[in-house]
Amino acid sequence: MKKLISGFTILSTIMMNAQIQIIAHRGFWQTNPATTENSIKALENAQNLRIYGAEFDVRMTKDGVLVINHDEHHGKMEVSETDFKDLEKLKLSNGENFPTLKDYLKQGKKDKLLKLIIEIKPAKTPELENEIVKKTIQIVKDLKLEYQSEFISFSLNICKEIKKVEPKFKIQYLEGNLSPQQIKAEGLDGLDYHFSVYEKNPTWISEANSLGLITNAWTVNDIEVYKKLKEQGLKFVTTNVPDQLKNY
Ligand code: MG
Repeated sequence: MKKLISGFTILSTIMMNAQIQIIAHRGFWQTNPATTENSIKALENAQNLRIYGAEFDVRMTKDGVLVINHDEHHGKMEVSETDFKDLEKLKLSNGENFPTLKDYLKQGKKDKLLKLIIEIKPAKTPELENEIVKKTIQIVKDLKLEYQSEFISFSLNICKEIKKVEPKFKIQYLEGNLSPQQIKAEGLDGLDYHFSVYEKNPTWISEANSLGLITNAWTVNDIEVYKKLKEQGLKFVTTNVPDQLKNY
């Protein structure tokens, strides 16, 4: 019986490894009824899906508070040029408070099985970017979320700064303009590129896999695109339809 169980465990581990891991893009918000992207509710929905992770976007307010917001603006206010006390006057469209990174991570901590994929948005100067990196890492450490957190960024400076401050954190680059060899040479952990980049560079996924890099694609919402990437050996997808891809 024991042998049978361990055989089954190995088999299911192999099957798991063959599966692409699913990451919910800005949480799981395309629910019925839909909720707001990057809201705590969207993170909670992702937690209930039992997938690999949930992605969200980090920016810093003028007075140095880290918040969750995709766009440069929250309503008509530019996040980086506005104090938090003014930004929080405007609620999210689902009625939630404008979320801070701390509040978001506290919700993330409630489910240790869901990875928190922290995207740090590029800022206006490298100095500001480095400050955001420092503060983000501090909050992650204060909440003891080191083993649950991974990082992504379009800014090569942010990626390299994270590696400098805390080399054990996994960081993937988003911009799509560096080859797997270049990502390796920069000391980063992987590529997380728009799926069209892999269509233009059909050898990159296998090259990255053989270099031991993480391979991830955004934003894959189409089964046909998903199938092609899977055939090429992609390991992770970031998607607005995590429920559909999970059950595929
Ligand atoms: Mg993002």
